[in-house]
Amino acid sequence: MLSQLVAHTLPLVPGPIMRRLSLRYIAGETLALALARLQALQAEGHPGVLDILGEEIHSESEAREVAAQYCAAATAIKEHKIDAYVSIKPTHLGLSSSEDLCFELYSIVAEHCKQLGIFLRVEMEDHTTTDATLRVFERLRLEFEAIGCVLQSRLFRTADDIAALKAGPLNVRLVKGIYLEPSEVAHTDAGPIREAFLENAAQLLERDATVAFATHDEAAAESIAQLVRAKGLRSDQYEFQVLLGVQKPLWTKLKEQGHAVRVYVPYGPDWRAYSTRRLIKNPEIVKHVFRNMFTG
Ligand code: FAD
Repeated sequence: MLSQLVAHTLPLVPGPIMRRLSLRYIAGETLALALARLQALQAEGHPGVLDILGEEIHSESEAREVAAQYCAAATAIKEHKIDAYVSIKPTHLGLSSSEDLCFELYSIVAEHCKQLGIFLRVEMEDHTTTDATLRVFERLRLEFEAIGCVLQSRLFRTADDIAALKAGPLNVRLVKGIYLEPSEVAHTDAGPIREAFLENAAQLLERDATVAFATHDEAAAESIAQLVRAKGLRSDQYEFQVLLGVQKPLWTKLKEQGHAVRVYVPYGPDWRAYSTRRLIKNPEIVKHVFRNMFTG
């Protein structure tokens, strides 16, 4: 209910206020700022994930430009000796216009990353894109080893998707799912979403997938910690992942318990859609918006 209200209200919030609120979740507008943030996190013991903000690109030339920016970002990661990899939204590489173009552009970035020894992750967007994204991922998996996908526990289909992914080494970032999906296709309440997250986690570990558990849900993280302990996994066989600006005390706690905690660092001028989704998840948002409006 609150999410829906905030979702409808945020587009009305003036640009400068949104920008100020968003700064918590993004490194800034330039690659240099993102690299500096990754280096600072690395100094605190956190490896990173680099994401260029943007989605829903429909022009082929723009999608090619995004792929080129990702190649340049991967090169910079390597040159600066940063422990980080790149992560790309399929519609940022043109999925909504052409699945083949999207596959071609992921392949270009994956080949470049392969030369550099850098991992690449195919992200997951709303449920209308899941089939095409998994098809692109399966094609990439045939050619590249250092590649992973994202699966969303919120979606009813995810257990079947895990079962359907082809045999062989598999690397998955497991998330609850950020997109507010209809109840016909997804759990909409927190309890069932968390239960599904834990079931999907167990299913992935059962099939020997390498899993990045991307969550700030302390109870879920505690259950995952028990699960990996029970499986006898070493701390280099899985990891937790968190978003820049979200629940930092939990990162510290997990790290102190001996888990690897990788931080997702997005950057770029196209920050509004990403930040809006993050702000909707933050129950404090209404308070922040009003305070920012009245303090100018
Ligand atoms: P929740 O139960 O939603 O949150 C747990 C706690 O964290 C709550 O207290 C909540 O208030 C707090 N919290 C959560 N988000 C925020 C926030 N923005 N600001 C302040 N507090 C917050 N989703 C996708 O659909 N596709 C992806 O490719 C994807 N990639 C991701 C990559 C990483 C590294 C991470 C960490 C998340 C990613 N997500 C992605 C988002 C994910 O699906 C969830 O929406 C998000 O992580 C919140 O769910 P949660 O598991 O943290 O649990």
